[in-house]
Amino acid sequence: MSDSPQALAALLAGASHAVVLTGAGISTESGIPDFRSAGGLWETYDPMKVASMNTFMDDPALFWRFHRPRIDMLGAVDPNPAHDAVAELQRRGIVKAVITQNIDRLHTRAGAVDVIEVHGSLDRGRCLRCDHTVSMDELCARADAADDGVPRCDCGFQLKSGVVLFGEQMPIEAIGAAFDAAEAADVMLVIGSSLQVTPVSQLPGVVLARGGALAILTESETDYDHRCSVRIHEKAGPTMQAVLTALDA
Ligand code: NAD
Repeated sequence: MSDSPQALAALLAGASHAVVLTGAGISTESGIPDFRSAGGLWETYDPMKVASMNTFMDDPALFWRFHRPRIDMLGAVDPNPAHDAVAELQRRGIVKAVITQNIDRLHTRAGAVDVIEVHGSLDRGRCLRCDHTVSMDELCARADAADDGVPRCDCGFQLKSGVVLFGEQMPIEAIGAAFDAAEAADVMLVIGSSLQVTPVSQLPGVVLARGGALAILTESETDYDHRCSVRIHEKAGPTMQAVLTALDA
């Protein structure tokens, strides 16, 4: 097993269908805390409570007290060198698909296209009663204008952002696209994920079962570490930029 950016570059250069899978760890260098690292969101909040369908339905004011500032925080950050590198690898045709568990839209803002967002994204608000959709700007304006901070649809029901909540059905189309991408992959590069959330945690196994290779660039341990061709425990941004440098050499 290798642990250098050069080895990762060689693996990607030799791939005919490389796929990238990212998690919250690719966005920490943009200033967005992940869930499980020290200082991560689980130390401050219980996501199972504030980011759950039960809270959204039963106590929308509590739900929106957590989510409204988070939307502003996510709007105030920028893609970092790791997002830039993933977009560049896709532009070069080396990476064929980008799957992300993140809802922050930073891959798209860095220039990646057709990003498969398996946990939804902050792209719009939607009414679960009448299916009316509104832009994020409109969603925030309605939240800010409401006495209780809850944005409401014209039909009166509370609006929800496009982020998938605990207890909510996963987006079937995106999950299907992620498994299709994994089945087509001869190399999967995982960046910044603890690989503890299903069904995404099954994707590396799909690649390995079909004879593909796995590379993981994530600071903490994962259950797949012993099955990797390349395993790097470093920061995503500088490492991915070193991969681009190695590819150019
Ligand atoms: P996670 O918090 O479980 O794991 C993040 C991993 O990234 C950890 O193993 C950590 O060691 C590693 N990491 C942190 N900073 C890193 C860096 N700079 N370079 C390399 N590795 C780094 O995150 P997960 O696996 O994505 O699963 C948690 C869930 O949290 C996902 O469902 C995701 O939707 C959600 N989430 C998303 C965001 C976001 O959109 N940015 C933020 C927090 C949580």
